[in-house]
Amino acid sequence: MHLSRFPRSRLAHLPTPLEFLPRLTESLGGPNIYIKRDDCTGLATGGNKTRKLEFAMGEAQSLSADTIISVGAVQSNHVRQTAAAACKLGMKCELLFENRIADASSDYKTSGNVFLDRIYGANIREYDKGTDFSSAMESIADDVRANGGRPYIIPGGASNTVGALGYVNCAYELVSQANDAGLVLDHIVHATGSAGTQAGLLVGLKAIHAKIPLLGIGVAVDRPMQEQRVYDLACDTADYIGASGIIKRDDVVANCDYVGDGYGVRTDAMNDAVLGLARLEGILADPVYSGKGLAGMFDLVQKGFFADAKNIVFVHTGGSAALFAYRDQLNLDG
Ligand SMILES: *Cc1c(COP(=O)(O)O)cnc(C)c1O
Repeated sequence: MHLSRFPRSRLAHLPTPLEFLPRLTESLGGPNIYIKRDDCTGLATGGNKTRKLEFAMGEAQSLSADTIISVGAVQSNHVRQTAAAACKLGMKCELLFENRIADASSDYKTSGNVFLDRIYGANIREYDKGTDFSSAMESIADDVRANGGRPYIIPGGASNTVGALGYVNCAYELVSQANDAGLVLDHIVHATGSAGTQAGLLVGLKAIHAKIPLLGIGVAVDRPMQEQRVYDLACDTADYIGASGIIKRDDVVANCDYVGDGYGVRTDAMNDAVLGLARLEGILADPVYSGKGLAGMFDLVQKGFFADAKNIVFVHTGGSAALFAYRDQLNLDG
């Protein structure tokens, strides 16, 4: 696979480290647990969207865009990294916020990611839950064009074929690190939401015949819907890189048993996982994505799901900037 054919803006600190977690491994009593530090991609406190934005912003630059338009939840990590990328490349940034949470706290509305979006000077508009964001973004793009600008729309989470290329690339990077270290990876686990991370990783792993099972832990919808999202995007991404047909429906596995009451709603297991990773390994997770992803992985280790595995790796997709916004949702006494 020849990713240098696609336009790319360098935004991320790569490769991100692959680290062993000795104290977590000992405490869970299962396979060796490694972590791929995509929370350390560098841009605006880091996270998985930076890899996707390298390709999305690369395409925007190749089209001479001057204004980026994108969408997310109020505490979106994607939107925060997009706002920073636009600054770095000298573009304007129009952000659409979906108010997904009723009775949100003032921390939720103003701290964490929102505070950083405002430091980056992005223009923010708020919308009700369930708004048709494709048309809302198109109409902003029309306004930008009417004023002589050149808009470029990035969908939520940068989860389209272009954004997924960032995780095709991550699959290569991770497997080369394992090869260099003489490490056999038996399973890869990560939090899955808008599906670009899982779709990209899957396409990358299949394209190089890595034969490492990939498990997404859902944070939003039920299993059939999540797997369909990932499958559709993975097939489109495979087509886009000229590798049609490499994705089978059975390759797509999402476990959505750890969502709890919904996207961004706390669970006790998430709480334990965030505190556990911090107190055993000094690494920060987040309440919405990586905390639930870890909660799923911890529980599955304890249930023996990885009994045949020697080494598993958790891809840490970032999100710690949101901790401040969810301060009242975390019980620090465990
Ligand atoms: C967006 C996000 C995810 C999920 O990635 P998708 O590509 O949307 O599935 C996971 N973790 C964090 C911290 C995120 O911001």
